[in-house]
Amino acid sequence: MPKMKTKNSAPPAETVPEVQEDLNPFHIAQRQFDTAVRYIPDLKTGLVDFLKQPDRMVTVEFPIETHDGSVRNFVGYRVLHSRIRGPGKGGIRYHPDVTPDEMRALASWMTWKCAVVDVPFGGAKGGVVCNPKELTKGDVRRITRRFITALGDNIGPHTDIPAPDVNTNAGTMARIYDTYDMMHPGRDNLPVVTGKPVEMGGSLGRREATARGCLFAVQRALARGVVDGLDTLSGATVVVQGFGNAGAIAAELFAEAGARVIAVSDSLGGIYRAEGVDPAQAVAHKADNGSVVGLPSTETLTNDGLLAIPCDILIPAALENQIRADNVHTIQARFIAEVANGPTTPSADRALFERGIPVLPDILANAGGVTVSYFEWVQNIEHEQWELDVVNRKLLAKMERATDAVIDMQHDIDSSLVKITGEHAARGVPIDGLGMVDLRTAAYVLAIKRVAKVALERGIWP
Ligand code: NAD
Repeated sequence: MPKMKTKNSAPPAETVPEVQEDLNPFHIAQRQFDTAVRYIPDLKTGLVDFLKQPDRMVTVEFPIETHDGSVRNFVGYRVLHSRIRGPGKGGIRYHPDVTPDEMRALASWMTWKCAVVDVPFGGAKGGVVCNPKELTKGDVRRITRRFITALGDNIGPHTDIPAPDVNTNAGTMARIYDTYDMMHPGRDNLPVVTGKPVEMGGSLGRREATARGCLFAVQRALARGVVDGLDTLSGATVVVQGFGNAGAIAAELFAEAGARVIAVSDSLGGIYRAEGVDPAQAVAHKADNGSVVGLPSTETLTNDGLLAIPCDILIPAALENQIRADNVHTIQARFIAEVANGPTTPSADRALFERGIPVLPDILANAGGVTVSYFEWVQNIEHEQWELDVVNRKLLAKMERATDAVIDMQHDIDSSLVKITGEHAARGVPIDGLGMVDLRTAAYVLAIKRVAKVALERGIWP
């Protein structure tokens, strides 16, 4: 492993947080929202409160009989953050660390993501507290069926539409559809869930959509000059944390696009190879051995070590809170593209911004998944199946437009800052801390404005 040295900045100062950083994902989502709202002076206070809080949270408890004959109880959640712009949309996650606040955060990020990429959905998210690694496939199938039954009509093709997330996949979505269809026989239920297998109404290109959308957004951002001296992926070095649905395919697509993927990791550790890791070999090794670790001709490293590798582009594609106040000083990437939701904390965001390391935020960088989910939903409603090149062409257009809109918003805010601070001051709003904005804040401002506009056009009922 080479000694790490940044290309684009002086060695970063040691960042030791004075107080314990608040890693509650919903607190983080609310701080991100509050930061952005300061740049929207004409947003009414009541509307701010309305947009910030989730509409509802459903908690369910249900038993299943596990493979060993015992009965175990599980807790599941479904949060609907907003239906202002359309039905709720968001994945279902199976993980031992699922909490109500994680679900609230992820649901709110879905609202802003759908607005950034301009698909007519609101935000939602669901999950079950469980560890699929300790369960059999049959156990997981029973959990899915009982969870969906317990949610009942809290999900539906025109109200709240699930999709895959951590530890769920097309097979899980097939079971969700089947369960819902059993509960609502004789109806056209295919659009109740997206990310289904292609044979049963899934969209071509959905499996790769999150990663492909990230690729398109990164390529556009580079072409727009977001990273000094890096305008193309050709020869760029890439590090990917998390090697699942999204991360493994991102590694493949970035390599196909001419980048060199030098390190990847999963929950058991990471692997490094200066000449490049072959993503297809890593996928095969993980399928046979349960982890990328041990792939021949690679060095093994920890996940902390992986984040610290000097590279052009770092792609966190695992879970929340991976880049924090306590490790941000180790980051030696020139650019970060967030495939995971919430991988960077606000303190880390600030430190990266100060060091000139741009972050393409989750609500833009991973929006390809929900975009093709929207395409799948439209195809189901219209009883159509689009060709792959049609899907990818439409995805490219959506991702480029969204990336442009976020970058333009950042420029607009920066150039009109004097005016904004003036208006805040006139309304008595504190202006301390208002300054040049990062891409996350720009994306939030864009999203909040879009959602608020529709809320006001619809009017507050009655
Ligand atoms: P997944 O379960 O398929 O993969 C997650 C991967 O992360 C696995 O390889 C796991 O081993 C690894 N991982 C877990 N903890 C880790 C750690 N501490 N360090 C390194 N690796 C770790 O999940 P996914 O669907 O690929 O989702 C990954 C992230 O992308 C999540 O934040 C999810 O919300 C986000 N996302 C996924 C989609 C999608 O379409 N699947 C869409 C948008 C966003």
